[in-house]
Amino acid sequence: MLLTLTSRQAPATDLGHLLSKHPDRCQTFELAYGRAHVFYPEASPERCTAALLLDLDPVGLVRGRRPGPDAGTLAQYVNDRPYIGSSFLSVAIAQVFRTALKGSSKSRPELAQATLPLEATVSAVPSRSGEGFLRGLFEPLGYQVDATRVALDERFDEWGPSPYFELTVRGDKRVSELLSHLYVLLPVLDGQKHYWVGQDEVDKMLAHGAGWLEQHPLRELILRRGLKHKRRLFQAAMERLLADDDAEPEETEDARAEEEAAIERPLRLDDARRGAVQEILHEVGATRVIDLGCGEGRLMAALLKEARYTLVAGMDVSARALEIAAERLHLDDMSERKRARVQLFQGALTYRDERLKGFDAACLIEVIEHLDPPRLEALERVVFGHAAPPAVVVTTPNVEHNVLFEGMPAGRLRHRDHRFEWTRAEFQAWASQVAARHHYEVRFGGIGADHPEHGPPTQVAVFTRGGEA
Ligand code: SAH
Repeated sequence: MLLTLTSRQAPATDLGHLLSKHPDRCQTFELAYGRAHVFYPEASPERCTAALLLDLDPVGLVRGRRPGPDAGTLAQYVNDRPYIGSSFLSVAIAQVFRTALKGSSKSRPELAQATLPLEATVSAVPSRSGEGFLRGLFEPLGYQVDATRVALDERFDEWGPSPYFELTVRGDKRVSELLSHLYVLLPVLDGQKHYWVGQDEVDKMLAHGAGWLEQHPLRELILRRGLKHKRRLFQAAMERLLADDDAEPEETEDARAEEEAAIERPLRLDDARRGAVQEILHEVGATRVIDLGCGEGRLMAALLKEARYTLVAGMDVSARALEIAAERLHLDDMSERKRARVQLFQGALTYRDERLKGFDAACLIEVIEHLDPPRLEALERVVFGHAAPPAVVVTTPNVEHNVLFEGMPAGRLRHRDHRFEWTRAEFQAWASQVAARHHYEVRFGGIGADHPEHGPPTQVAVFTRGGEA
């Protein structure tokens, strides 16, 4: 299975930056069901092509699966899966071109948002109803479509024409747009998905379909097929698509992380923060932890590596962030035993939620500053009043430290989406009141290089209840 992406925008080799894959190197990525290789068959200033070669392992595909209708037959091993563009390719795109799919690029952020003359070719896609269906899917998105039927070996003439096409789409698109279109539409062509399709699939399709799926003339068919004809999921998806609600924040979690990282980079603060939180969780003796506002699931991934944690849960309001977390954790292809230790769900911290109960520690890592101050009261009731775990760890930026960040204009917050950043005194005043109101004890600390005057970049409060730690 081969997918090629070509840019003709000089200098075309910038495609390497957009995909975060260097044109001079061949790279291999281990996937759950095989490998993906990325290389550049051509890389000149005028034209640059990146190839994603998917090398699926037909035996690996079968291993660990529940026996299906072809169990024990050759069809289980010999089928079209390794050779066609399908949900495997979508998953590979999401894994290998993760940042490009999201529209970000560390080294060429402006270019990631620019429209470029792009072209994508998939070596074989199935289209049982012929070329017209391929056009019907891609032309409304503004692509010029070339579809060439893949010939079967002439010795098998009596089998009739093959249902497979080599598909090329061309158009002036952002790289993320092109990848999103392929991500959503390839499994639709194939009509199969190799993983269990549940509620999160609705989130994925709507997230990647944002801005185009709702206007697509075949949107019903796309959703129905993408959701494997599951009626309830389809109805839920259509409702959300048509509700046209913009509850989903425009900016992706990743863009946020990148901007914040750019400011905090010299400190590798993110890693230090995670390490510090892990230490605190150790100290309080937690084994069942929930990460509230888990974002892309980095802390969860670190905790899951430690056997002491019997349950690691994550909640976030952003479906997009949860999707990335699910990918990072390999939730789709985790062993059952490991899967039983993980919970990942969408929710808002400002609404009571029974799912937040029963943990012995909750984390709010760089989350409170994303809420409007009046909403903090609701968060306080939900976390400290209702869920009320024995320990709560809260981190937030220390605004006093901002003067030490190079290249940060005075008075600016570390990120656009921060509603506030507090001094140490402000944070401690808030946390002490929360502790008093809900019968917790609280102690404070810092994470990152502690400046004698301006303090550490991150401040942390550890709430514990009734001598429980
Ligand atoms: N804890 C993660 C992410 C921090 S960014 C980390 O340290 O990397 C803040 C996160 O809080 C975002 O993922 C955002 O979607 C989430 N968030 C913001 N407001 C929320 C709310 N009201 N309920 C749940 N999550 C929220």
